[in-house]
Amino acid sequence: MANYYYAKDDKTQGPFSLPDMEVLCRTQLKPDTMVIRDGEQEWSKCSEHPEISGLMPKLEIPLLNLYPESDASPCCPECKKKVAPDALRCPSCGKQLAEEQTVVGIVAAIVLALIICAVAWSLIPH
Ligand SMILES: [Zn+2]
Repeated sequence: MANYYYAKDDKTQGPFSLPDMEVLCRTQLKPDTMVIRDGEQEWSKCSEHPEISGLMPKLEIPLLNLYPESDASPCCPECKKKVAPDALRCPSCGKQLAEEQTVVGIVAAIVLALIICAVAWSLIPH
């Protein structure tokens, strides 16, 4: 079985068998990584090598769809740009987002409830 080599940091890595190269294609090698096989005179890009190119994962389309912009992600009420669900401030305009206001609102409601209880307690005859 022929041996294959690839170039990394200007050093030749190898030899690798074709099954080795298949694993490397999935893990290390990029489409523009240079590869050569025993008997070949010229280095080729992984994406252009007759055998190696067939081993490269077809990642272009799935990669683009890995992090789809979900319509469920919240929008900034100020500038209408999408923001991360856990963002406390809009990265675009700096507006404080609803989530933090909700926390403040809950705290305010608890404090208000405690005040009402204290007033009610002081009003009822003991
Ligand atoms: Zn904004």
